[in-house]
Amino acid sequence: MVTTTFASGGDSKKKKKMLASLGRRWTRLSTRNLKPTWKLLNGRGVSGGAVTIAKERVDAVVIGAGVVGLAVARELSLRGREVLILDAASSFGTVTSSRNSEVIHAGIYYPPNSLKAKFCVRGRELLYRYCSEHGIAHRKIGKLVVATGSSEIPKLDLLMHLGTLNGVSDLRMLEGFEAMRMEPELRCVKALLSPESGIVDTHSFMLSLVGQAENSHATFSYNTVVLSGRVEEEKMHLFVAETGSFESRCEGVVAELELIPNLVVNSAGLGAQALAKRFHGLGHRFIPSSHYARGCYFTLSGAKSPPFDKLVYPIPEEGGLGVHVTVDLNGLVKFGPDVEWIECRDDTSSFLNKFDYGVNPQRAEKFYPEIRKYYPDLKDGSLEPGYSGIRPKLSGPKQHPVDFIIQGEETHGVPGLVNLFGIESPGLTSSLAIAEHIANKFL
Ligand SMILES: Cc1cc2nc3c(=O)[nH]c(=O)nc-3n(C[C@H](O)[C@H](O)[C@H](O)COP(=O)(O)OP(=O)(O)OC[C@H]3O[C@@H](n4cnc5c(N)ncnc54)[C@H](O)[C@@H]3O)c2cc1C
Repeated sequence: MVTTTFASGGDSKKKKKMLASLGRRWTRLSTRNLKPTWKLLNGRGVSGGAVTIAKERVDAVVIGAGVVGLAVARELSLRGREVLILDAASSFGTVTSSRNSEVIHAGIYYPPNSLKAKFCVRGRELLYRYCSEHGIAHRKIGKLVVATGSSEIPKLDLLMHLGTLNGVSDLRMLEGFEAMRMEPELRCVKALLSPESGIVDTHSFMLSLVGQAENSHATFSYNTVVLSGRVEEEKMHLFVAETGSFESRCEGVVAELELIPNLVVNSAGLGAQALAKRFHGLGHRFIPSSHYARGCYFTLSGAKSPPFDKLVYPIPEEGGLGVHVTVDLNGLVKFGPDVEWIECRDDTSSFLNKFDYGVNPQRAEKFYPEIRKYYPDLKDGSLEPGYSGIRPKLSGPKQHPVDFIIQGEETHGVPGLVNLFGIESPGLTSSLAIAEHIANKFL
């Protein structure tokens, strides 16, 4: 367990460096006529008394600059809030947001009225509009979910039913020959065509969100880890430090700054629960248990052109959507992700994001037979290890899938705190809708 102690003096070099860097940002922003509360940190709150770390009141803090945190930060800042985004990494979107399939999902798979269904459908509409308006590379290439044996046809019918209930228009059930006419390399007995599905350049999308947030005076502080929090006089107090000092000292790490925001959005992805457990004053019964499922991708080598124009998905499996094929906007074909449950991760590991993202080449042996069910001409030796991502799940193996959790004061009783838990797929598609929901509900 990581413990947090607070600095006992005002002369630590690191503290000064961090405060100076934050101070510079506030100074820079204050020249744009922001309110005085954003002004210089240096020289304030660093003293030799009992409470010795710098304190700063801020308006809204978003913890985590993944695609969801960025969308939230942009939305809040567009609505006139002064937003500070903190991320432990050295840049935005370095964790799950850059380790996914980059698919804009239509909204087929999720139980009706679930947050996943609502946010996916709404988020997809918002995302396509955003991409068109801001010149973000994307293509609505459509998707085929395929049944490769007659036993899978009822599952395909169920998906069609779910999708229709969720408001996904244009879904069409195709006979095998119709689907195979569209995609000559495909083998299937029936397929569900989802014309609304597509792909997006996630990095450009996130970069654009950063730009929009910054243009609305949001401030980004990278290499800044939120260590813990404390509820005091009806407000969350956050304790932060430089990531470097946290990584080197871990146990007994020293907080270098205390932030007192009006609104805190915990969008820390894989680390959201581990962080919430360090919020003293937040009941642990409100923090769901974490489960992690790694998904590996293999890329296709040696093919002159992509074998498919559309996304091709098998029937979903437990914990994931099945080893599907996607093409990115550069024409790179990738297969995945599979599902590998990661056992016994303790809080420290998830807090530090110390997961193994390596792709074991031997996993390809399992990929070949899975893929050949719908793509029989896949050549031996054509799969090369790609990358992996880890799903921040709220249910474990053999358990029912659990919806996204977005909880505010009405649930946990802590004023100004919003926790986002279990934002796995379709989190990228849903990001703008989650942001809209948070702004509508919690501002
Ligand atoms: C294999 C895989 C495939 C997927 N495919 C798709 C898909 O095709 N379509 C789709 O819609 N969705 C997909 N998803 C889901 C999507 O990628 C995620 O829902 C989304 O990226 C989550 O974004 P986030 O901002 O919540 O989390 P993250 O991107 O993980 O960001 C969290 C951030 O919080 C920071 N952080 C953590 N703890 C702290 C702390 N204490 N202090 C400061 N900063 C902290 C981290 O550094 C990180 O930058 C997929 C997910 C996986 C794993």
